[in-house]
Amino acid sequence: DQLISQIAAGEVVERPSAVVKELLENALDAGATQITVRLEEGGVKRIAITDNGRGIAPEQLPLALARHATSKITSLHDLENVGTLGFRGEALASIASVAAVRITSRTPDAAHAFEIVGSHEGTVAPSSGAFGTTIDVQDLYFNTPARRKFLKSEQTEYGHCAEVVRRIALARPDVSFSLSHNGRTIDHWNVSEAAKRSAHILGSDFAEARLALDESAGPLHLHGYVGLPTASKARADGQFFYVNGRFVRDKVLVHAVRAAYQDVLHGDRFPSYVLSLDLDPALVDVNVHPSKIEVRFRDSRAVHQFVFHAVQRTLAQTSA
Ligand code: ADP
Ligand code: MG
Repeated sequence: DQLISQIAAGEVVERPSAVVKELLENALDAGATQITVRLEEGGVKRIAITDNGRGIAPEQLPLALARHATSKITSLHDLENVGTLGFRGEALASIASVAAVRITSRTPDAAHAFEIVGSHEGTVAPSSGAFGTTIDVQDLYFNTPARRKFLKSEQTEYGHCAEVVRRIALARPDVSFSLSHNGRTIDHWNVSEAAKRSAHILGSDFAEARLALDESAGPLHLHGYVGLPTASKARADGQFFYVNGRFVRDKVLVHAVRAAYQDVLHGDRFPSYVLSLDLDPALVDVNVHPSKIEVRFRDSRAVHQFVFHAVQRTLAQTSA
């Protein structure tokens, strides 16, 4: 069982940033509006995420660390319509098989918090803590040195973690986030409007030269901002695309956006953009890879055309 967990962990927990992603998605699933991410040594030494969500009842704490026990999927229908962000029911169990995990949680009706340490076999003990949940992950890969060897420098691993936080924070301006590394607060984003959040995260260049976009066609809805290359510096990390709220990196979408930029502005620079495509979950498969960064559209031609034309029309306003 331990071995199976460690193998599964390889899929889910490729590096510290993958842990950050799973924990953030769980916090959002729990309805958190305030999330604190504390990292030490690029996340390898420690990833502690605190949220003010609905918490985990003491009798549920062992289940949270058990494989599959708490999958958010209850039917085949759910598989096709993954509404919540997490759905495999094994992220925490996998993480706990390759790191020292402590969960401290307090539900709204509990007189105090409870905690569990280690695995689903750990005992549940009273603890102190505010409403919500803290998941503290220490010494990642302490028992799988081969995997640990694949990690890059502390700064690189930290960079990946910070990128995951940025991606999620951009999509959820209705939630406040704070991020610290080695005891230093790096970022803090209060609850704000989408426009403000993206300006905050992508910088004033983007904020000053961008066009809002909001277009629908049939089951497809695209909204967000496209930056103008005149002002925004060419940065390779300013492209954010979300499908049904989930950050994705998809060839079809990237190509559609770049083609639209080329068509209107004839530039070959990397524009910044933050775009969200919402569509019927039945029209997109998000289950391509455990890291869920890839998607597959049922009709990728239609999606490409729609995105291309929406971005093209928006950018064309500048030359009109
Ligand atoms: P999944 O998210 O796929 O259900 P996970 O292993 O990520 O599986 O989490 C297991 C379970 O633990 C969740 O289903 C949820 O019930 C509980 N849980 C995890 N993190 C939190 C959190 N931050 N707040 C409340 N409940 C949580
Ligand atoms: Mg999860």
